[in-house]
Amino acid sequence: MTADAARPFLPFALPEIGEEEIAEVVDSLRSGWITTGPKTRRFEQAFVDYLGGGVEAVAVNSATAGLHLAVEALNIGPGDEVITTTHTFTATAEVVRYMGAHPVFVDIDLDTYCMSTELAEAAVTPRTRALMPVHYAGFPCAMQALTELADASGIDIVEDAAHALPTLVDGRLIGTWSSAATVFSFYATKTIATGEGGMLVTRRPEIARRARIMRLHGIDRDAFDRYTAKKPSWYYEVVAPGYKYNMTDLAASLGLHQLAKADTFMQRRAAIAARYDEALEGLPLVLPPRPSGSNANHAWHLYVVRLADDSRVGRDEVMQAMYDAGIGCSVHYVPLHQQPYWRDTYRLDARQFPNSQLLYERGFSLPIYTRMTESDQQRVIDALKSILGRT
Ligand SMILES: *Cc1c(COP(=O)(O)O)cnc(C)c1O
Repeated sequence: MTADAARPFLPFALPEIGEEEIAEVVDSLRSGWITTGPKTRRFEQAFVDYLGGGVEAVAVNSATAGLHLAVEALNIGPGDEVITTTHTFTATAEVVRYMGAHPVFVDIDLDTYCMSTELAEAAVTPRTRALMPVHYAGFPCAMQALTELADASGIDIVEDAAHALPTLVDGRLIGTWSSAATVFSFYATKTIATGEGGMLVTRRPEIARRARIMRLHGIDRDAFDRYTAKKPSWYYEVVAPGYKYNMTDLAASLGLHQLAKADTFMQRRAAIAARYDEALEGLPLVLPPRPSGSNANHAWHLYVVRLADDSRVGRDEVMQAMYDAGIGCSVHYVPLHQQPYWRDTYRLDARQFPNSQLLYERGFSLPIYTRMTESDQQRVIDALKSILGRT
């Protein structure tokens, strides 16, 4: 047995749940508030305070739900188009189909892995209603340019910020730009985790109001009001056929403490990324893009490397060898132009998305998470060096 095989498998991602989170969940269990209640409200307020910039926050049970509520609040429907990229998780595009509208896919830029502003501009038609940029890996999209494009075209922006807490660009946190809505994810692997959960933030009161109604069956008050307001507690009105997207207080219990640690977590991730950058230099790898300037930062949800042209081994081979060394890596993503539903419905072809295709063929994500120790990371570095043949 090799030394590596004797060591426990090194996962690709792990949440960091502390005793505070556990105590808070227990407190909720004892209080009787196990669905949406006071802690969800507190979590929303804490999120508003964290981001600043006068946003409103609507807690939901996933980012997918938040993205759906955003396009619903914008009344995007049949015949409408929403521009996004194929280099994302299917959730980004699927919510557009929930509304009967059509996603229009454009390629990413290779120096950011985010949606190309130029290609997005070329894809705008009279039917375009919104842009849905994805802050891939936690790297900020070109928000200034995208905002100018949206304003000039009279369309909205819904940001998929599932990776981007916290991400700063041009001195503004993602979530505080003028987009119609920005949606964060607290899925188990994300930068802060509540198991399942998400937050829609917006500066437009009408979007916040609509999302609050639609997240709970189209009922015009949420459960907290229903049980504590002075109005008769049994009375409510259904104003639309809404959804069941409310966050539970159990998730909010986790979220309150995770959010308080978001900056510490980010610093830890940034330190891991910096160490990878230094250690992997000289290998046949293209290291992740870094935002430029002191007014920008990367949330480092993912650390994605790409095999360079002169690599003697292929992506699948590297990933298998890493797995054999007891190290979990992943691929973000199998691009949507390769997914049967999207490929067949919209007749997508890899040649339309050369950058996304290249990142798919050559890219893989290394383990990065706050609980990773220096020796964990050294294992990853050593394994990669030996696999890529430059020990
Ligand atoms: C995780 C993720 C989502 C979905 O988040 P959920 O909270 O799991 O619904 C959407 N978009 C991207 C890019 C993601 O990584």
